Amino acid sequence: MLFSELGLAAELLRAVSEEGYSEPTPVQCQAIPVILDGRDVLAGAQTGTGKTAGFTLPLLHRLHAKRPEGARRPVRALILTPTRELAAQVAESVGTYGKYLPLKSAVVFGGVSINPQISQLRRGVDILIATPGRLLDHIGQKTVDLSHLEILVLDEADRMLDMGFIRDIRKIIALLPPISRDDREGRQNLLFSATFSDEIRQLAGGLLHNPAHIDVARRNTTVETVAQVVHPVDRARKRELLSHLIGTQNWRQVLVFARTKHGANKLAEQLEHDGIKATAIHGNKSQGARTKALADFKNGSVRVLVATDIAARGLDIDQLPHVVNFELPNVAEDYVHRIGRTGRAGNVGEAISLVCVDERDFLRDIERLIKREIPKVVIDGFAPDPNIKAEPVFKQRQGRPQRSQSQPRSGDNANRGKRPQVHGHGHAHGKTSNGNSNGNHAEQKAPAKHGHQKPRSGNVAQPSRPSGEQRNRPYHGRPGQRPAQNRSGT
Ligand code: AMP
Repeated sequence: MLFSELGLAAELLRAVSEEGYSEPTPVQCQAIPVILDGRDVLAGAQTGTGKTAGFTLPLLHRLHAKRPEGARRPVRALILTPTRELAAQVAESVGTYGKYLPLKSAVVFGGVSINPQISQLRRGVDILIATPGRLLDHIGQKTVDLSHLEILVLDEADRMLDMGFIRDIRKIIALLPPISRDDREGRQNLLFSATFSDEIRQLAGGLLHNPAHIDVARRNTTVETVAQVVHPVDRARKRELLSHLIGTQNWRQVLVFARTKHGANKLAEQLEHDGIKATAIHGNKSQGARTKALADFKNGSVRVLVATDIAARGLDIDQLPHVVNFELPNVAEDYVHRIGRTGRAGNVGEAISLVCVDERDFLRDIERLIKREIPKVVIDGFAPDPNIKAEPVFKQRQGRPQRSQSQPRSGDNANRGKRPQVHGHGHAHGKTSNGNSNGNHAEQKAPAKHGHQKPRSGNVAQPSRPSGEQRNRPYHGRPGQRPAQNRSGT
């Protein structure tokens, strides 16, 4: 199939051809015609499938075809994403594909000043890309008007739920004008998700009207173009093995996943020590530092980017050849997301997991989820010592006293959402056997606290914003301003 057969405006075809795309990807072939037709869509598509263009191109087409009279520019399309990075990337795509159309777009996310966003919104925006938290801030401050919304996109909906955004999303949806979709005149809703939990189905059920179902990548399966391998190794020798692999295989660009922010920092430092240019990206870094880390990695001045799951979500790095799981994720689905960073848009990629004896259960869960066994290859000189006993991998915040409300969260929105799981080893409380009191496993998914605590005085003054994050985090700045980091996304 050719792009020109999809019924898209000439301006869009021109932009697409300048991007060098020769033909639409499967998700684009399926999604573009039904979205152009005005239908709601429930799409199962992972990152790397070309899903962003799959919804952006027909969205731009429809907005352009039905321009409102008059000079006013209300927000007509809203794209919600889980992380800042993904929001920025989607915004870039909207700009790229829409460059020959007279439509304006803006992106709003936390961690940066809200004022330029307010000015931009005031000047008029057709398409708004947002993370849920910052969007609610704007809604609370009445700096955005969504009453003319024609298209709503939930991108990576599963991730938004994982990150604890469900209440925020429901709240945003409730604030949108009520719709009647009998005649397809009302708002069009598009939901993209890599996986489908009951919660996603529930959300979709309440939001979508007679949706077209699109499922390009089979659920919870890993991309065919990614070669997967496990290298068994002792826990204490993982860093040595990683440096060895990078050096002997001459990897130029490798994304490495660590389980925690602290672990990511430490590993990046150790690699630097080994003479390998490395940097870390995670939720405790300022937006500026994160942007710089990503830019340095993309332009090749940094060879290794060490990331936590949440920070890496949404990173779109063209033709990333290698992804390394320095530690396996404790949530099996994250493995699918992680290795989706490579083998994108048809390119071949390699996903390497360094697995020690502690992680057997995680590996078993992952293999169960993806319904295949990952080949195990022992690297010469790194055979695991059979006498080393498994130690519990301390999960999330188990054993850590519940953070009091007066303590700032070290995390971010990443820390909202998943309930801690007890995994195999029966150490739900206390210290790990190596005496490590859980400090290593802090980034991911603390229990969501979406209860009904009262806002603390001194918190950001947006009474409409209900999220646990806002309530829990002390804040002593001006009303309307938020702490500089860790707002939306990671
Ligand atoms: P996404 O799944 O939206 O994150 O897209 C993954 C990558 O595929 C991005 O780098 C896009 O630029 C690229 N891409 C999207 N559509 C196409 C296409 N039709 N042909 C080649 N590459 C594409």
